[in-house]
Amino acid sequence: MSDLQDFVGKVGIVTGGTRGIGKAIAKMLVSRGAKVYVIARDQQAGQTLEQELGARCVFAPADVTNSLQINELIEEIFSSEGRIDFLVNNAGITKDNLLLRMKDDEWDAVLTTNLNGAYYCTKAVARWMLKQRSGAIVNVASVAGQVGNAGQANYSAAKAGLIGFTKSVARELASRGIRVNAVAPGFIETAMTQELSAELQKRYLEAIPLGRFGRPEEVAEVVCFLLSERASYITGHVINVDGGLVMI
Ligand code: NAP
Repeated sequence: MSDLQDFVGKVGIVTGGTRGIGKAIAKMLVSRGAKVYVIARDQQAGQTLEQELGARCVFAPADVTNSLQINELIEEIFSSEGRIDFLVNNAGITKDNLLLRMKDDEWDAVLTTNLNGAYYCTKAVARWMLKQRSGAIVNVASVAGQVGNAGQANYSAAKAGLIGFTKSVARELASRGIRVNAVAPGFIETAMTQELSAELQKRYLEAIPLGRFGRPEEVAEVVCFLLSERASYITGHVINVDGGLVMI
């Protein structure tokens, strides 16, 4: 258990919370007192996560690209809990390719998961947050959405879109006490980045001022801060968690 217990009595959702950054976020929120619904597709990983995190972690199998499924699930969560205090749009995939080699389905899958998924979840949750006149949302973007990355036109477009989405929705919901922010991780050690070649990893490492890759917990710390009351006067912002890779 963490010394910080600033989420006691709070209920919320983390998409893509079965591994990597999302798992670190779910784990930190639970350790600070929250009840967390984790949305992802792999049932086995979901059940293992529930066993690891205990009773305040509930696996909610769903695909963020399926708006009907997401609407029904979020309505069910609100009906049984009577509130939804936070949402973390973290579910994401990469399908890297150079532009001229990129297949339409690689473009579509990345845009649909990283951007449409966040849109469906945010819209479904906002409906209930507006009723309760409170809530906090954090979108997990990427430095690729800020400065681009060769071979990631689809991913960069999705994450840049997510940053624009964050700012627009922050403006729409602010008057109702709902804050919306984003984090932009750099290179974080997860399954997603393990796929990169040793050569590419070496090149990224050379560009990071702090001289190392990040850990999922270092992103989770910032997400938890943005979701908490300690960030009560912050909305519409993007915080980089990237070892200094991108300084805007
Ligand atoms: P990861 O280890 O591959 O985990 C991705 C998570 O998303 C898994 O739980 C996965 O579970 C879930 N997911 C994928 N597609 C989904 C869908 N259609 N519906 C529901 N859940 C889905 O990835 P990660 O590295 O932790 O990345 C997490 C987020 O951080 C992503 O948005 C990523 O773009 C962003 N990010 C990562 C890095 C990095 O260096 N790792 C850097 C910048 C930004 P299932 O497959 O079971 O559904």
